[in-house]
Amino acid sequence: MSFIFADAWLITMNESREVLESASVCVEKDRIAAVGTRKDLQRRFPTAEVVDCAGRIVMPGMVNTHTHLFQTLLKGLGDDMVLKKWFTCMTGPSGVHLRPDDAHAAALHGCVESIRSGVTTLVDFMYIHTHPGMIKSVVDAYERTGMRGFVCRGFISLGEEYGVPRELIEEPEHAIGDAREQMLRYNKPGARVQVGVAPNMIWAVDEKGYRLTRKLADEQHALITTHVAETTFELQTAATRYGQTDTEFLSEIGFLGPDVLAAHCVHCKPHDIRILLHHNTKVAHNPCSNMYLASGCPPIPEMLMAGVTVGLASDGPASSNNHSLFQAMKFAALIQKGFHQDATIMTAEKVMELATIDGARAVGLEKEIGSIEVGKKADLIVIDFNNAFMTPIHHPVSAIVYSALGNEVTTVMIDGKIVMRDGVVTGVNETEVRRQAQIHADDLAKRAGSDRFKKRPWRSMGI
Ligand SMILES: [Zn+2]
Repeated sequence: MSFIFADAWLITMNESREVLESASVCVEKDRIAAVGTRKDLQRRFPTAEVVDCAGRIVMPGMVNTHTHLFQTLLKGLGDDMVLKKWFTCMTGPSGVHLRPDDAHAAALHGCVESIRSGVTTLVDFMYIHTHPGMIKSVVDAYERTGMRGFVCRGFISLGEEYGVPRELIEEPEHAIGDAREQMLRYNKPGARVQVGVAPNMIWAVDEKGYRLTRKLADEQHALITTHVAETTFELQTAATRYGQTDTEFLSEIGFLGPDVLAAHCVHCKPHDIRILLHHNTKVAHNPCSNMYLASGCPPIPEMLMAGVTVGLASDGPASSNNHSLFQAMKFAALIQKGFHQDATIMTAEKVMELATIDGARAVGLEKEIGSIEVGKKADLIVIDFNNAFMTPIHHPVSAIVYSALGNEVTTVMIDGKIVMRDGVVTGVNETEVRRQAQIHADDLAKRAGSDRFKKRPWRSMGI
């Protein structure tokens, strides 16, 4: 199939960051075939279907560099807790009771939510493996919805003393063996969905776990993702156990590298940032989650000034409560402005880079996605700005980052296939996906005992 997205306000995110008015994009099969005028493209591609985009913005699909899709079932249950309590009282116990059918319902809902908010590439970090088949549950959701991205086989190898449920703890050899099996099964050259590997964090993974991860990634050329310096608790644990920061430790044991996507890095000091840069390790920035869990304000401007690649992310909906990258974009700009009392420190344009081309670089796909350029994969979104929030409009990037609510995305294309058209998700029945997710969410909360958080008293100040 060929399509011409005609007469759009086009944010290309190409090398010179061109923003073109009344521009058209032609897609042939799974690639961008041409950018030009409607007339020119209709002449060159006479059989292509024309999608009228007058009054609309077309931009590259966004890359969400960090989420935990299973947490889609946990929205709102962990409000107003810091990370350690949030994990040991709510997220951990929910994980213990999670079954593959719950994980699939959650992942389907999370993919639909992501498509609705203009995300075309998703990095899932799946660390619950109490039953076999969890990775398949998530991969199947990517397949059914048409999502691109990585399903990373996470694991926890210790942490009982900190309240990690014993059922979630695995022997590193077992976890890595399973990750290898999944990679051999799914990681065919050019596959839209790839399996990565994801040791959880410094207080929940032993040295052997990190070393085996590095070995597997080298052997399979797979993406690694892990949580780094998210909270002060991680730094305290790293200091007690290793006498250094988690970044220093991971560097010293040969774990860090250009294939590592480090989520959060909230408490990275200048020395840690230099280490990340030295290894060309990438960062997944989760502004909503970092504020929600009161983890702190990450030194993103410092990382960017140093030259570290940073992608944007939502984090799991247990700590950000949705998969909206529009909210992440606005938070990413505003928290830095407020924290530094400097309005120039994070611009709308830079945030747009984090959400698109920099996110693509963060997952090693910058040659394939992240911008609208001839030869690249056709991952793009159409935004209708004719609504009360985005108009009056002067600048499309500003309108997207600061004015949009996120539900203005009308059409989404991934790999040349339309996965949402005029607000209707095409691969699955969205109403049914949402109904199933609610059923699984209620049932899981009951089984895990976290339904007690549903019936909370009215909480005002000083809880
Ligand atoms: Zn996370």
